[in-house]
Amino acid sequence: MEGGVEGFALLTDLTQSVLLESAPQLLGDDRERSALDEITVRLGPGQIVERGPKEAIFAAPRHPYTWGLLQSIPRLTQSKDEPLVPIPGRPPSLILRPPGCAFHPRCPYLEESHKRIVPELEPVAGAPGHLAACLLPESERAELWARLQAGDRPEEARAAVAGTTPPATTGDVA
Ligand code: SF4
Repeated sequence: MEGGVEGFALLTDLTQSVLLESAPQLLGDDRERSALDEITVRLGPGQIVERGPKEAIFAAPRHPYTWGLLQSIPRLTQSKDEPLVPIPGRPPSLILRPPGCAFHPRCPYLEESHKRIVPELEPVAGAPGHLAACLLPESERAELWARLQAGDRPEEARAAVAGTTPPATTGDVA
């Protein structure tokens, strides 16, 4: 099953210190399979940034960290020419959690206030069971993800949504 395979690929991304509870067909008993057909995306222990039905997470993720994960790992549905996009920076310290949004030191969509305000998990409109913790307006996140899906780099997507010019780049990070 495609979602399960992708879920497995996400589970293997432990180098990012990510714990993805995923793929009920891989984890849990029969009861959990029927009740927990969902993915939880964590920055680290206790730091859930997104949760929802696996179809929603793969088709319409609403958190920049999930976008980074999905773009940084190979998927079976991915074209050979489609580049992987690494998530910059290091996973957050388990001891010294950054203030505000814990993903802010690595987030390409950071705004100043995100360094102070801790986002709460909030429902995604029109998507039962889908929750995300990001301070950007949901409509903006939807547009950003659409642009990333269309091939924009994060800085290009951000500039396009903001109506500005993307900063010059010196090339991909290996
Ligand atoms: S709240 Fe800001 S820093 Fe945190 S994930 Fe959302 S855009 Fe990025």
